[in-house]
Amino acid sequence: LVSRKRHPEDTVVMVGDEPVGDGKRTIVAGPCSVESEEQVRQVAQSLKKQGIRLLRGGAFKPRTSPYDFQGMGEEGLQMLRKAADEYDLKVISEIVNPSDMEMAERYVDVIQIGARNMQNFELLKAAGSVRRPVFLKRGMSATVEEFLFAAEYIVSRGNTQVMLCERGIRTYEKWTRNTLDISAVPLLKQESHLPVFVDITHSTGRRDIQRPVAKAALAAGADGIMLEVHPDPSVALSDANQQIDIPQFETFMEDMRVTGLIK
Ligand code: PEP
Ligand code: MN
Repeated sequence: LVSRKRHPEDTVVMVGDEPVGDGKRTIVAGPCSVESEEQVRQVAQSLKKQGIRLLRGGAFKPRTSPYDFQGMGEEGLQMLRKAADEYDLKVISEIVNPSDMEMAERYVDVIQIGARNMQNFELLKAAGSVRRPVFLKRGMSATVEEFLFAAEYIVSRGNTQVMLCERGIRTYEKWTRNTLDISAVPLLKQESHLPVFVDITHSTGRRDIQRPVAKAALAAGADGIMLEVHPDPSVALSDANQQIDIPQFETFMEDMRVTGLIK
């Protein structure tokens, strides 16, 4: 069902009234984790100023260590919803538990499935039954074929509104957090009709190379990019080393617009 052979036209995913995959490039931005009302409000305000509609923020955080910040849960989703409503934005947030899908529908416009859960088949099936688009991230050790099968799980349950996100894979390279598989972008576009994103934050794990990586992603045909933005990354409760602050985000977007790849 996700194959372009069966369905040659691009799928345009509707996030409420916001089309994704219609030719214009989409930016998804926001903090790694929701930490406070004020934090998400500041980021939401910056998105609004730049005409960006999709606000991200993690409330259920799948952390490597059980001692790290696990996220604010439902309260975090409420904060995201409130900030998004104030600035007419759409909310995208990760859900990790199939039994939270119904609850999530009350707050989020897009369900995110994270890299660590790409082959959590019960979660994929649950995402296939919700009336919300799904933002599916590639597992850090998943092949492109496995990634597409994961999307197939969702679509085969009746939810055709799926976006794919390449977020880097695990290799021996240590100077980046993951290795961005840039060739996955044209491959996914060729093999499937779903919109394709690149997460420039988790793939690199560093701030200093995000701009060329973003340009490469868009030049390779990505329908959009995701990045993490935090009002003060130095005090962030997760991913402090890779998030950019609001002034950096604004210059990043100016730079992207100069390329003509983003309006
Ligand atoms: C995220 O985008 O919040 C995240 C945790 O990324 P990933 O699942 O790709 O590691
Ligand atoms: Mn993060």
